[in-house]
Amino acid sequence: MIAVLRWGHRIPRDSRITTHVALTARAFGADAVYVDTEDKELEETVNSVVRRFGGPFEIKTGVNWREIIRGWKGTKIHLTMYGEHIDDAIQRIPQGDILIIVGAEKVPKEFYDLADFNIAIGNQPHSEVAALAVFLDRYTHRKGLRKEFSGGEIRIIPNPRGKTVVEEHVSRRE
Ligand code: SAM
Repeated sequence: MIAVLRWGHRIPRDSRITTHVALTARAFGADAVYVDTEDKELEETVNSVVRRFGGPFEIKTGVNWREIIRGWKGTKIHLTMYGEHIDDAIQRIPQGDILIIVGAEKVPKEFYDLADFNIAIGNQPHSEVAALAVFLDRYTHRKGLRKEFSGGEIRIIPNPRGKTVVEEHVSRRE
């Protein structure tokens, strides 16, 4: 299980970036995203991508982030530009259940202590979306992007020169 916890989500300011965090998590091999602030519109946007392009992928908003972190049985990774460079730490991060924490605004000091690893995707400021994508790509040994999705309404067929999209015939129980 790979889950992402997005902390500090502010509506409407972070709506677009948090959507990108969730879609990047899904596309790069994570199973779920948890967002601290309740945001039904964000849930609907992500769920509509899952309906159209497939899952499984879960989004939950309005979560108690402390409970999620404290109750997490696997490894907790906090992505921060102040952490250990990913190249120096990736070998020590065990494979298994992981919770990846990304902030929206400046995160409380508590996160640095609650996490098992504070990991920098380079020690320069950039974006939580970029940080998450690079981390997942490295952590999954490039396999995250090959994740198979199922149950979607449509599927993209890779095409070097144009768009090919096929409709899936999925029987759904109402
Ligand atoms: N200004 C805030 C601060 O310094 O704490 C954070 C703003 S940053 C746009 C939002 C999130 O992006 C951070 O909480 C972190 O998760 C992620 N991030 C940005 N640069 C990063 C880096 N070089 N390595 C890992 N994560 C990074």
